Amino acid sequence: MGVACKLSCGHCSFKQDVFLGIGFRYIDLVSILEWYEVEEDRQIIKEFINEKEKSFDCYDGLYICHECNFLLNKVYLHMKSETRSYTNSYDCPRCSTQMPPVPLVNIQNEMIDCPDCEQEKLVVNFYMDWD
Ligand SMILES: [Zn+2]
Ligand SMILES: [Zn+2]
Repeated sequence: MGVACKLSCGHCSFKQDVFLGIGFRYIDLVSILEWYEVEEDRQIIKEFINEKEKSFDCYDGLYICHECNFLLNKVYLHMKSETRSYTNSYDCPRCSTQMPPVPLVNIQNEMIDCPDCEQEKLVVNFYMDWD
């Protein structure tokens, strides 16, 4: 089960809702294909569904741009089979730098710099479980 939290900055008006973890449609590749949107990745998911000895990781995480601190809350997908592996990736929507390969999934109070003012660490308020 995942969690939802609200990030906010005590210095400027920055606020963002973030979803982290897994939902019930994340447990197998066929279910993931029902909601996954990026077309190129969808093709690769279909290929992996037919491969043997596969394993995968899929969850919502928080990508933090190492250039501009932009926060991108997106799904992480990593698939592995006998013969190959694949990890999805994102570019920062603000500065186009490639985001880190693996997002954060456990975030804590005052751990993340505010992406707007960069003056303070963000306050994290968990407000519900989601699935
Ligand atoms: Zn701020
Ligand atoms: Zn950036």
